[in-house]
Amino acid sequence: MRLSRYFLPTLREDPAEAEVVSHKLMLRAGMIRRLASGIYSFLPLGLRALRKVEKIVREEMDRAGALEVLLPLVQPAELWRETGRWDHFGKELLRFKDRKDHDFCLGPTHEEVITDLVRREVRSYRDLPLILYQIATKFRDEIRPRFGLMRGREFIMKDAYSFDVDDQAAEKSYRLMYETYERIFNRCGLRFRAVLADTGAIGGSESHEFMVLAETGEDVIASCPKCGYAANLEMAEAVSREAEEDEAEKPLERKATPGVKSVEDVAAFLGVPARKLVKTLIYLVDGRPVAILIRGDHELNEVKLRRALGAEQVEMADAETVERLTQAPVGFAGPVGLSGVRVIADQAVRGLKNFVTGANEADAHYVNVNHPRDFEIEAFYDLRNVTEGDLCPRCGTPLELTRGIEVGHVFKLGTKYSEAMGATFLDEKGRERPMVMGCYGIGVSRTVAAAIEQNHDEHGIIWPLSLAPFQVILLTLGTDEDLMQVSENLYRALEAEGLEVLWDERPERPGVKFKDADLIGIPYKLVVGKRFKKEGQVEVKERRSGETRTFSPEEAVNFLKDEVKSALGQG
Ligand code: ATP
Ligand code: MG
Repeated sequence: MRLSRYFLPTLREDPAEAEVVSHKLMLRAGMIRRLASGIYSFLPLGLRALRKVEKIVREEMDRAGALEVLLPLVQPAELWRETGRWDHFGKELLRFKDRKDHDFCLGPTHEEVITDLVRREVRSYRDLPLILYQIATKFRDEIRPRFGLMRGREFIMKDAYSFDVDDQAAEKSYRLMYETYERIFNRCGLRFRAVLADTGAIGGSESHEFMVLAETGEDVIASCPKCGYAANLEMAEAVSREAEEDEAEKPLERKATPGVKSVEDVAAFLGVPARKLVKTLIYLVDGRPVAILIRGDHELNEVKLRRALGAEQVEMADAETVERLTQAPVGFAGPVGLSGVRVIADQAVRGLKNFVTGANEADAHYVNVNHPRDFEIEAFYDLRNVTEGDLCPRCGTPLELTRGIEVGHVFKLGTKYSEAMGATFLDEKGRERPMVMGCYGIGVSRTVAAAIEQNHDEHGIIWPLSLAPFQVILLTLGTDEDLMQVSENLYRALEAEGLEVLWDERPERPGVKFKDADLIGIPYKLVVGKRFKKEGQVEVKERRSGETRTFSPEEAVNFLKDEVKSALGQG
């Protein structure tokens, strides 16, 4: 591709609309442009990178024996009513009516559509196992679309669904997909980790997320350096060491704490460490208030709370509810004397002695609070986020916390959808049984963004070779006949070898060409300039290492061919 004829609107400055690096760089590199909140157009360079991810995903899914389909984006409400998700999916599901007043939605995921297809066409155990997949547009009306492709409303996903005769066979499909995901992200050249995950709204019994490791990731991963245990924050079990305290219980006392509210301020004011404070959080759990006690230096995890109480929905109570229950302004709730509400606690609160709580009164706290002497707790659960230094629930080694971007998700669904929708088959004995399902997603467009979050420097993107929109950028520094001629020969020779080459033959200054090449992150620069005029030599410069090698034009072609083919495993 000749750059003078390419559509590559690069930007010198960081666009104001972008907060994270991948978003900034994709805009600056002319890969994407925003149409509306969370909705983007792919320009030619961006589309090439997207296609690279798609190609790897498609090849590996095919290799695993999965079969590609293409399912409709527009879906009738009736299907979603069958599984109850028309009412339960919430506002991420964009609903609308057609001209005949029939309800439809834009597909945020395709369990209903695929289960409907399979229940109509598959009858016998002989047709199973079956894994179907597609690479297509999804729409989710995300509450906070942000970070460009990272959390869009319209985005590209690979979704796959497995259908099996029983749990054991379903387990096999799950393993196969798990291994396929490992192959996919390895081929993408990304550093990643598979972690245990919550099964959330989609339901099911086991789930792993595939996380691309990056400082800027939205997700936190807890992992054990010794035994390999790894889980996201929602799943990572907090092992609370029995509170060590053998202090004698001191008499309960009310202290005035004028104007001090936050954990840090109260701790400082009373001269105690934050771990001696117990926060009382009032939540609405499926609409009913619950008081949750959690140590001052710990954070509540809402997914753990939802799971512990078997609830569908948990949310922080509004100020009015808090004030009605505690008879005090928000910020002073405490368990002593609190009535008319369930009180539960995180495990780390168990055995604490002489701690501080709110006093259900403005500008006051209790000190030397003790359980069960001063109040009751209905039950203890694991409700908090693990923190650095918490011990591995499997082997007791201190856990490490790292950040990641969720690019893939595998789920065991069991028979949730097949039972709700009557997707059954006849087994060997002619008995009718529900199919056992799994579902498997990869955020294809998010993977492009994640690759950039993990691979960039102050000059721009550093593409892993397998995802690079072009493998080589040929820079001609000058416009005279000789330089153009040898460049054209190089360009043709590289293309003849099957390499993907972008030729910057624009009449621009060398500085501009190098800047653009670094910004768009092409793995190899092939430079034809002064050195060619003097010595007949060209230079190959690697984007990642900055290493420069000098060759004759023929040697350069051979070198690049070998490098690219061996790195892509086709050597
Ligand atoms: P998240 O927790 O990030 O909202 P999710 O659990 O809703 O993700 P899944 O329903 O498992 O995601 O979707 C499968 C994959 O699709 C995810 O692993 C992610 O890579 C991608 N994905 C999900 N939501 C978005 C989005 N809004 N924009 C881009 N990619 C997304
Ligand atoms: Mg989501």
